[in-house]
Amino acid sequence: MNARKPLIAANWKMYKTPAMAKEFVAAFLPLVQGHTRDEIVLCPPFVDIATVVAATHGTHIHVGGQNMHWQEEGAFTGETSAAMLVAAGCTHVILGHSERRHLFGETDETVNKKLHTALKHKLTPIVCVGELLDEREAGKTEEVLLRQTAAGLANVAPEQARRIVIAYEPVWAIGTGKTATPEMAAEAHLMIRTQVAHSLGREIADRMRILYGGSVKPENTPILLNQPEIDGALVGGASLDPQSFAKIVLYGAV
Ligand code: PEP
Repeated sequence: MNARKPLIAANWKMYKTPAMAKEFVAAFLPLVQGHTRDEIVLCPPFVDIATVVAATHGTHIHVGGQNMHWQEEGAFTGETSAAMLVAAGCTHVILGHSERRHLFGETDETVNKKLHTALKHKLTPIVCVGELLDEREAGKTEEVLLRQTAAGLANVAPEQARRIVIAYEPVWAIGTGKTATPEMAAEAHLMIRTQVAHSLGREIADRMRILYGGSVKPENTPILLNQPEIDGALVGGASLDPQSFAKIVLYGAV
């Protein structure tokens, strides 16, 4: 029996104004009312956070940031701190998403700094790892996943680590319509969990939730999430529509 509570997170990326976000929540909430099997997290753009927090107030839906800076405050134009996310009502934050790594120069080192700051502020970090297509084709998937996991978790004390969530997102599957097969995803999750055990001990590794992300859709959710190694999903494109995201959240429950 898998004791890890599944987590299904929506990554809206740079989509939706506050009015559109409010409309989404109004349509989504009735669809998932009373569904407590999974932890549900909406990660809207920063300007929508206040709207989504207000619209989900008093419900079981959590709100997360898509990124944050590791410094407490300072002259960092365009950045958002952990304290700001918490004050705005966020409980979660995505760190090291592949778009941040590949389009905005995020490194394993900055992901690690952000992780330490997120934990200090009691946010639940969703740390993204995943290989590029060339890396997979060159047989380097394991090397990349072990490096990103080890570096991302560096110097975290086991007692702080319980809240950490990892998302395995093969870069070639993000927004492309290509999905890892359930077996490929399960194999990658096992590699990540083995590294977590090296870094933080077996007990933490056994409890850590490892999500899959990469073209998750209502149709492929059951086959992916029925893998015992897959503890939930990080969903981009298919999370923008309330009906589609609700179908993903409710997989196997209706
Ligand atoms: C993502 O943004 O993390 C993601 C997995 O996107 P998509 O579901 O669109 O592939």
